[in-house]
Amino acid sequence: IKVQDYRPQPFTDFTKEENVQAYQAALAKVRKELLGKHYPLIIDGQEVDTEGKIQSINPCDTSEVVGTTAKATIGDAENALQGAWKAFESWKKWDMDARARILLKAAAILKRRRLEACALMSIEVGKNYAEADVEVAEAIDFLEYYARSAMKYAGFGSSETTWFEGEENGLMSIPLGVGVSISPWNFPCAIFVGMAAAPIVAGNCVVVKPAEDAGLIAGFMVDILREAGLPAGVLQFLPGVGKEVGEYLTTHAKTRFITFTGSRAVGLHINEVAAKVQPGQKWIKRVIMELGGKDGLIVDETADIENAITAATQGAFGFNGQKCSAMSRLIVVDSVYDEVVNGFVERAKALKMGTGEENANVTAVVNQMSFNKIKGYLELAPSEGKVLLGGEATGEANGKQGYYIQPTIVGDVDRNSRLAQEEIFGPVVAVLRAKDWQDALDIANSTEYGLTGGVCSNSRERLEQARAEFEVGNLYFNRKITGAIVGVQPFGGYNMSGTDSKAGGPDYLSNFMQLKTVTERW
Ligand code: GLU
Repeated sequence: IKVQDYRPQPFTDFTKEENVQAYQAALAKVRKELLGKHYPLIIDGQEVDTEGKIQSINPCDTSEVVGTTAKATIGDAENALQGAWKAFESWKKWDMDARARILLKAAAILKRRRLEACALMSIEVGKNYAEADVEVAEAIDFLEYYARSAMKYAGFGSSETTWFEGEENGLMSIPLGVGVSISPWNFPCAIFVGMAAAPIVAGNCVVVKPAEDAGLIAGFMVDILREAGLPAGVLQFLPGVGKEVGEYLTTHAKTRFITFTGSRAVGLHINEVAAKVQPGQKWIKRVIMELGGKDGLIVDETADIENAITAATQGAFGFNGQKCSAMSRLIVVDSVYDEVVNGFVERAKALKMGTGEENANVTAVVNQMSFNKIKGYLELAPSEGKVLLGGEATGEANGKQGYYIQPTIVGDVDRNSRLAQEEIFGPVVAVLRAKDWQDALDIANSTEYGLTGGVCSNSRERLEQARAEFEVGNLYFNRKITGAIVGVQPFGGYNMSGTDSKAGGPDYLSNFMQLKTVTERW
């Protein structure tokens, strides 16, 4: 296929009044056309409805039901898996270019509906304009990028093997079969579509279980993929409860691979059940995981302090810290500690709390469970450090009842305390005082996670040392540590943060393929 070189989507500039107005028009349209919508399951191309339903609630105004999805039963999960294997018989024979075309078409549709997708997420999960915009851009990027990645695998692959006299040798990349994709609510458009599109374009069929808190944007994206021409059974849309259908699917003998993004606890559980061979199972299940983080940003005495404060504020409070990449530890060298921390607190004080629709800087966290969990850490905070800002789970903002948590900064936290070690997944930052640069790097490496990290410093030597020794999958210098762009910063972590599978990276599709070497003696 003739395509332009891959280029990430530009972001929208919301300092321009016309862009704000267009966004608000999209909010009105979505409120009129999509609110209250119900998305059924899609199995073998057919809409299947269920007795049970999953409600999606606006976290910024919990009196509002955004819409509903069906709630799959074990029987539905079984049908989805069986149907996907049937669809696989023909889907695996499609050529790569033909499959890639569907992703390209889906990207084109999503570009046209970009603002609607953004607006829906503002209402369903409370993203402000910029956060939603960046995410839909990322969803388009995943589709465009994986389509191009697939094209590289077209053909027999003989170029990858060494010539041997009297023989033809080639390396074929073939799909794995049917897998399960379990995606998170924090990037319910981009990660949802990336985790479905990548295995699909490589020739697999996938049962996708979206997050319970964000079923509508998932349904919206599935409609786009179907409109783009995805054949029946290739993507089985299975909203349901993780503990029920998720558990059934990940345990099942007919599941060939599992791709999961979410918490460390759920990920490790999936890894464990997936490792147990079931009667009739013919393979070792492949598990691809993106788990949590306890991501640290180091600021040393050579840093541009204003720039470091900006990096810290953006990294900590973007989407209320509900990113596995969020800066949840600020590690500051003693000699500049007061200057950095005071500046950071001042900057964070200015953040406005409110709804996604109002384009507030900090909105509500996703659900009651998150709210309760974060509240627990806020209660712990005074005993583990000095609460310098926030500290309250207000449960309301601007007269709206919702899962609101104040941006919170806790100073002088001990490196081994719970606030410094456990993932909170909310707008809560632990600040740690380091004796010097080396101590700061030691602190940064003192968790079991290894997802993102950063250094604000003007010392070339230290940056080079960090490049080699900072144990993370995504390392950033002199900027925020969130917001990886597809193709530009392949994303994924080490250690307890995941299988380092690098979404948006050059080899991501190989996670969903197996290799076969074929030799013919002439
Ligand atoms: N890729 C996102 C980023 O770089 C984070 C993804 C996640 O939180 O799961 O900020």
